Amino acid sequence: MTQEWTPERTAALIALWNEQLSTAEIGRRLGITKNAVIGKVHRLGLQQRRPSPKPKTEPINVLRLEGLRPNMCSWPIGHPGEETFHFCGEQIAEGKPYCTKHCAIAYIRVKDRSTSVA
Ligand SMILES: [Zn+2]
Repeated sequence: MTQEWTPERTAALIALWNEQLSTAEIGRRLGITKNAVIGKVHRLGLQQRRPSPKPKTEPINVLRLEGLRPNMCSWPIGHPGEETFHFCGEQIAEGKPYCTKHCAIAYIRVKDRSTSVA
């Protein structure tokens, strides 16, 4: 059975093509073979679809203030205003504002400060 390329079918092919469907999928929908789709696409001179452009790579997946949640460690890493400045974001130790690791640092600092002041 030969399917004729009526204007309607051609329009359907173009629409499906523009929807970024695979040639196999377009063929399935139109009831024709993948090769028939490829042949028609070629004859129509439809633009070859390029793979979608890669998403811009984020420099670093950093946790910003707006991403901070109450159960996340708000220990600042880096210097405020710098591109890489972010927050730790680890699960906080119970009843503490920071994660276990940063609590340890925080308490050492407090202890040092109190001894140096005294
Ligand atoms: Zn932390």
